[in-house]
Amino acid sequence: MPKIQILPEEIRSKIAAGEIVERPASVVKELIENAFDAKASFIKINLREGGIKEVSVYDDGEGIEPEDLKICYKHFATSKIKTLSDIFKIVTFGFRGEALASISQVSKMTILSKHADYDSAYEIRVEFGKEIYFKPAHLSKGTLVKVEDLFLNLPARKAFLKTPRTETFKIMEIIRGLSLCSPETKYQVKSIEENKENTLFFWEGGNERELLSYIIGLEKSFFKELLLEHPPYSIFLLLTDTSKTFSHTKYLYFLINKRWIKDEKLTKMIINALKPFYGNLGFPAGIISIKAPYHLVDVNVHPAKWEIRFKDEKTLFLALNKALEEFFNKKTFYYEREKHS
Ligand code: ADP
Ligand code: MG
Repeated sequence: MPKIQILPEEIRSKIAAGEIVERPASVVKELIENAFDAKASFIKINLREGGIKEVSVYDDGEGIEPEDLKICYKHFATSKIKTLSDIFKIVTFGFRGEALASISQVSKMTILSKHADYDSAYEIRVEFGKEIYFKPAHLSKGTLVKVEDLFLNLPARKAFLKTPRTETFKIMEIIRGLSLCSPETKYQVKSIEENKENTLFFWEGGNERELLSYIIGLEKSFFKELLLEHPPYSIFLLLTDTSKTFSHTKYLYFLINKRWIKDEKLTKMIINALKPFYGNLGFPAGIISIKAPYHLVDVNVHPAKWEIRFKDEKTLFLALNKALEEFFNKKTFYYEREKHS
């Protein structure tokens, strides 16, 4: 008797959602990335019970037109790419149109949005993948996405979540890393736990150095910077030198084309490059930001977009090495940031 059956859509979309939405922190990541893509200058996040009860992300970006709002939660609904070749020149954070689809499959999601071309804002409510309503609403600018009761329909998944405190901690890790992709943006993060409201992150916009100092809690002057143009790469280092090192790489952020990456292979390569300079002292804190031509990097390798593939890793390693050499030889450091943006 044949054993194979094609899984019904119902099950398929829940499985697919699981790859993108692992926990509340994944929801926060996707919603902040959407706010970045909408060119927000202010992002406000509210969390209830570590995001398990609620994650709300407001942004003052360009908003969603009503016709788009009706379909934005469908699978592969995206305004960011149009053809297959577009995925090799991705300048936006999103591109697969799967985030809202995944989130809406495993939660109760409400999106309120006001687009400049329309007089009214609109609101859509989707519960576990099914549209509940679509109607005019009130919002003067931007988009508010509210995600409630995550994994209520997937108790097995919900059981894997940790305490609200731990989930909040994981969310904050995401917010710190992502904020470095856009330090000029304003951020406000509040959590409500057992009826107590706490401000967890408050940033009024500034540069990388100031934001790093806020995030890590280390004086600005500890970070030294260097920019190296090494075609086809541009490497920007904003790091502590050997006078301030750490036993872990938790305070070390890697950005590729302004995207925050957690890629094992790349991390290994960077650690190898750092080794001769920091020796046994440990690791620096700071940012290693690499700009590469879009056709030399593939970002479409991981559902949550944490990983990346480079076409030419050898040249990148050499460039990184050269940047570090200059970083350590340089006597006076001055601000070179502008050239990299
Ligand atoms: P992707 O970001 O990969 O395109 P998403 O599922 O995250 O897919 O979002 C689907 C679409 O909804 C986006 O392409 C965008 O057009 C729209 N969208 C989502 N969030 C926002 C937002 N905060 N502001 C404006 N548009 C948004
Ligand atoms: Mg997205």
